[in-house]
Amino acid sequence: MNLPDPLLPLPDEPLDLPEGSDTEERLKLAFVSVSDHVNLHAMAWPARDLDGKLAAPPAEHVLHELAHIYELVDEERLISSPKLGDVYVDSELPKCDLCSRDARYDAIVEMNGTKGGAFLCGDHYTELGSGTLGASGDTYLMLTAEVPDWVRDECNWLLATKGREPLF
Ligand SMILES: [Zn+2]
Repeated sequence: MNLPDPLLPLPDEPLDLPEGSDTEERLKLAFVSVSDHVNLHAMAWPARDLDGKLAAPPAEHVLHELAHIYELVDEERLISSPKLGDVYVDSELPKCDLCSRDARYDAIVEMNGTKGGAFLCGDHYTELGSGTLGASGDTYLMLTAEVPDWVRDECNWLLATKGREPLF
């Protein structure tokens, strides 16, 4: 029985390194090339669904994030398939920095001419957020209790194979 793969894959691409350079130089070029690849495929996910309503990113992204938070697979695999940054999972929500409601976004906003991170409720995100999650620096905050059942099952299964306690 194959274990589930919790990570969203990046497109496969061979490294194209020039011949002849020494080992240290090639290693440096390889690092730059991998880092370019990751940046090129950085996720920019819309904060709204097709009806224009603010929505959580897909469950597959939630599983990918949980795989990183709880190291559900080998470190090497986590490095080659980095966090998307469009969703984060926690047991409670912070308060909006601008009102007393629960925040749904950890967003980069510009206020009084300076850019910085802020926790925002849906209404304040609508007003001030970029409307794009992930590469923009904006993150949707999901409660542990809201994680879909099949995602919980896969997390628990992966943990069980490592002899670790279930998350949910
Ligand atoms: Zn607010």
